Amino acid sequence: RQCSSETYLLHAAVQEVVHSLQPVLSKMPQFVHVLDRMVEPERVIIFRVPWVDDKGEAHVNRGFRVQFNQALGPYKGGLRFHPSVNLSVMKFLAFEQTLKNSLSSLSLGGAKGGSDFDPKGKSENEIVRFCQSFMEELYRHIGPNQAPIFDTPLGDIGVGPREIGYLFGQYRRLTSQYEGMLGAKGVQWGPSNLRPEATGYGVVFYAKEVLADLYKDLKGLRCVVSGAGKVATCVLEKLITFGAIAVTISDSRGYLLDDEGFDYGKLALLRNIKIHNKSLRDYTKSYPRAKYFNDSKPWSVKCDVAFPCATQNELNHADAMALVNAGCQVVIEGANMPCTSEAIEVFRQSKIVFGPGKAANAGGVAIQGLEMLQNTHRVQWTPEDVDNKLQETMKDIYQKSLKAANDFGIVKSNPEALVHGANIAGFLQVAQAMLEQGCV
Ligand code: NDP
Repeated sequence: RQCSSETYLLHAAVQEVVHSLQPVLSKMPQFVHVLDRMVEPERVIIFRVPWVDDKGEAHVNRGFRVQFNQALGPYKGGLRFHPSVNLSVMKFLAFEQTLKNSLSSLSLGGAKGGSDFDPKGKSENEIVRFCQSFMEELYRHIGPNQAPIFDTPLGDIGVGPREIGYLFGQYRRLTSQYEGMLGAKGVQWGPSNLRPEATGYGVVFYAKEVLADLYKDLKGLRCVVSGAGKVATCVLEKLITFGAIAVTISDSRGYLLDDEGFDYGKLALLRNIKIHNKSLRDYTKSYPRAKYFNDSKPWSVKCDVAFPCATQNELNHADAMALVNAGCQVVIEGANMPCTSEAIEVFRQSKIVFGPGKAANAGGVAIQGLEMLQNTHRVQWTPEDVDNKLQETMKDIYQKSLKAANDFGIVKSNPEALVHGANIAGFLQVAQAMLEQGCV
């Protein structure tokens, strides 16, 4: 996590886990060589994605699918379309996904995929052509019929319902299989209710558990949120439901501060602004008391709880110091690894309670596992049922992390207990399965 370059992201993610595992490896040395193998992906697929734009010009992007670990079950992990995507980003995300899926209590392995394609500014037809070309190769490496590979991509940065829909259509066309296996979001063709919301809602349910143990309730707490995508807006929505005062949202261009707090009407406006790829500044036309800050991050805004929900390494040492000065007491990661290790060190020293992404944002994958059950039986649970199951799941993940930490002498009052506990609990399940399978 100390590395600013994307090249070292996997190393940073592994370092953090190794740090957490010190007490485990000294008690259970049989897992040392398992860890050596676990940090290497089982399989990496890199492929060319040629496509033609609306002017007839040819382009080529690079596609990835990293199948990291299948010891616990079928590979599962999202697809990301963003210019920053490279092999290092894919590997780190797939490694994190492996531990996250392990924590979710469902039998799922870890994977990640994507492309350095940028969907921003592309026409609908260009997106269709790119997705079809991407699937032209990916379909060979996913699906339940290709033992031993059973791989189910979901959404991530730059991949939402639209992209998943086009990918699914092409997969179905190429394979004649109708499996609802892409984590798609049009409810009429497969996925669970609340699937799009599950990650963001789950983050807030997890925060609720953390706060309950601090004898606090979300109601009335000031929260800062970064990002304005699928995770961030659903975090915002659930915060509003629980009566929290969510005051910021941000994107790659800047952040927006509404000191009065967002409500459902304001959130609808924000979603509309983002759907049309407009600036968050436009919000101030309707709410002139709100302020927009170009090229800035929201971490110096006074708050009780912070939710970084944009991207990896978005919150560094200086940002963490700013959060401390702003009175923040709890940080819950909505994105994957948004806080650098230096930021986490600041939280530790300042006794800020820190909830890591691999636990806090595991709600999406947990619901996806349950979705496989619904699809198999061709039933669909109501949104209320799914919401309840998601709450139970996040509570379970929180408690499992605390128990794992406690089993190895890390007490609940340690501000890093949730990080170490999540890493230990996630690791032990995968490591045990690998040992039992001959460590392959
Ligand atoms: P989206 O593409 O929907 O949204 C990402 C948001 O982050 C956008 O608002 C984007 O800004 C902003 N952003 C991206 N890069 C930067 C940057 N360098 N600085 C500031 N803002 C930035 O992605 P998701 O909401 O799906 O994913 C967000 C995070 O959550 C990722 O880390 C992802 O891996 C993680 N995650 C997502 C899950 C899901 O179900 N979607 C599941 C688990 C984790 P702009 O709008 O300007 O592009």
